[in-house]
Amino acid sequence: MDSDEGSKKDVTLSRRKFVKLGAASAVAGSAMMASLPSQVMAEASKGITGKQTLSSLPNKIDNTVYQRFHQKNTAFCQAITGTFPEGRQALGMLGSTSNELGQRTLDKAISDAGWYIDSLIADGASTSSPDTVAYARDNETAPERYDFSSPEEAAHYVKKAARFLGADLVGITPYDERWTYASFYNPQKQKSLPPDLPFTPKSVIVMAFEMDYEAMTTAPSGVSGGAVGLGYSQMAITGASMRKFLTNIGYKTFAAGNDVALSVPYGMAAGLGEAARNGILVTYEYGPRVRIGKIFTELDLACDSPVSFGVQHFCETCMLCADACPGHAISTEKLPSFAVNNECNNPGVSKWAIDAKKCLLAWGKTKSDCATCVTSCPYNKPDFWHHRLVDKVNRLMPGPVHSVMREMDKLFGYGNSFDKKAVDLFWKS
Ligand code: SF4
Ligand code: SF4
Repeated sequence: MDSDEGSKKDVTLSRRKFVKLGAASAVAGSAMMASLPSQVMAEASKGITGKQTLSSLPNKIDNTVYQRFHQKNTAFCQAITGTFPEGRQALGMLGSTSNELGQRTLDKAISDAGWYIDSLIADGASTSSPDTVAYARDNETAPERYDFSSPEEAAHYVKKAARFLGADLVGITPYDERWTYASFYNPQKQKSLPPDLPFTPKSVIVMAFEMDYEAMTTAPSGVSGGAVGLGYSQMAITGASMRKFLTNIGYKTFAAGNDVALSVPYGMAAGLGEAARNGILVTYEYGPRVRIGKIFTELDLACDSPVSFGVQHFCETCMLCADACPGHAISTEKLPSFAVNNECNNPGVSKWAIDAKKCLLAWGKTKSDCATCVTSCPYNKPDFWHHRLVDKVNRLMPGPVHSVMREMDKLFGYGNSFDKKAVDLFWKS
């Protein structure tokens, strides 16, 4: 049998498996639904959305301990500058090739292609600096301002522009200095950057960019690396374009990738999602399969509120990402806490802290930017009825239902990581 036939058979089998499991799950789902308490059924039958608006972030913050984070303390900065030599060695492995599916020249070529625009205009989004095209801070604005009738109207137009220019999700939140890095650092040039922002922003527009589901199912591989890179490239294009749009209408603005400020709290504050066990923002629409970009502007915009759809509750039982993580970098503690691993975590926020150094070392071992914690997460899967059922019952009936959902997710076989066949399917579909 040639490999084409093999992959067709795999597709057919997986379709059959899908239908069979779909039927089995519908039965299991009905049985489970029948066993749910009447309170849950009443909520579900109202067709409520699983999202609840919150008045503040769901994570506890200890203001007596919390201090702003120094960009230099990220594992990336430490690896690039050589203060974390094993990390530097791991980064050096990312481009290496072998005959293995996912690691071939072909697979690494698409990874490099995904990152290409980011490397041209953002100089590596994770450590980008103010002198790149995408993230420049020159503040040249048009002499005349376009006046909006209200912050609500301005927010509507800005969100429309962001979506038109490439963002998949957009939320807005007030500028909050707590999330801005205490100091900035460019590891490539090994130099500290000016500590102050060019102006004090009023609003932060937070944008999420979906990464391709099919490509991500190949993680960890060059193909999934391409999807990650493309997310960063799109983030840089839209960031630069949004800066142009807002300066064209007379408002000082600058864009940021992973630099300038912490993305997860900003994503939460802007109502895009919740922080999860895997340390990533889990969005309602795409789960953790997104990259997050930020636009800082002096334009006064109506803001969104944080939301919860029960992710943190679900994480307490799920742990699929922790099981799948090749670096053992994800906490297996049931509950979030104030515990930190090293200087790469900033203390004072209750969460599941990722061990970023262990994570980076696993990148070296997998010769990729990994992302297994994205693909193993049930919320990353394209919309499916059991997601929304989880959302509806999450707060009312955690624990046992979550265990069933975790097992169903595995049964459905979505997002398996370390599945070399996924690489073949990606290329041949
Ligand atoms: S990227 Fe990979 S190694 Fe890092 S936390 Fe996620 S699963 Fe673990
Ligand atoms: S895989 Fe499970 S535990 Fe991990 S982030 Fe997703 S829902 Fe939470």
